[in-house]
Amino acid sequence: MSANHDLHTHTTFSDGAHSVALHVLEARAFELDAIAITDHYTPGSALADDATFDRYLAEIGAARQGQDDVIVLKGAETQAMDTRGTVSLDARHAARLEWVLCDLGGASEGTLRNTPDHRNAYMENVIRTYLSLCDIPYINAIAHPFNTGNTTPCARPEDYPEVLLRELASKMAATDTVFDVMNDTVYWFTNSGLQPCQVTAQYVELVKLFAAEGVRFQVSSDDHRSGVGNTRWSLLVLERAGVPVGQIVDPRSIMPIEA
Ligand SMILES: [Zn+2]
Repeated sequence: MSANHDLHTHTTFSDGAHSVALHVLEARAFELDAIAITDHYTPGSALADDATFDRYLAEIGAARQGQDDVIVLKGAETQAMDTRGTVSLDARHAARLEWVLCDLGGASEGTLRNTPDHRNAYMENVIRTYLSLCDIPYINAIAHPFNTGNTTPCARPEDYPEVLLRELASKMAATDTVFDVMNDTVYWFTNSGLQPCQVTAQYVELVKLFAAEGVRFQVSSDDHRSGVGNTRWSLLVLERAGVPVGQIVDPRSIMPIEA
């Protein structure tokens, strides 16, 4: 298994508990190949401010100087605002980032915000949103896809129509939009009525389907509380789904952006 990275972590620049420096120190100690600092970039968040964004990039830049143990990527986690491909990250700031994730969250109209009453309409909106994210060149990965288990109605991985999943998978493969297998995915199914082992089994099937269409994957802790490098569940899912090594992101191939 070659997914020895953690490409989704949060620091005190958003709602994480620890500094960029501590994340990098831990990643070096754990002998990860790469870590991405991907603080939230949502409407009105600290990173949307120019001065704070500059300081953020400077801190990540400083943390990768003077060591070559671990690749440290300048990233952010933006959010889908609607189902049509509007996201919260400014294109000008995106141009200065090396690894951009996008998730569905509380500001995502038509999915996690104002969730449709009917599950089918909800799931169609989720797929439409993800399809539109594939058209945005600076979005590298979809953060914890299908985090739709805590809404009313809830949409479990097995609820999604296969034809829609295949349409999305083939577009993600064609546009090289990476699927983030996030370690704490079970969190997003707290209210779904599923047992943890059922979440795992259903997510493995999802990953299998996306892998079969040629989608690439990353693993992550989505760390907020010093769980850097904790990708135990992510690796278990990739292994059970039989994802080939060639379909796992190789951070060495990501072009660094200086200053
Ligand atoms: Zn996150």
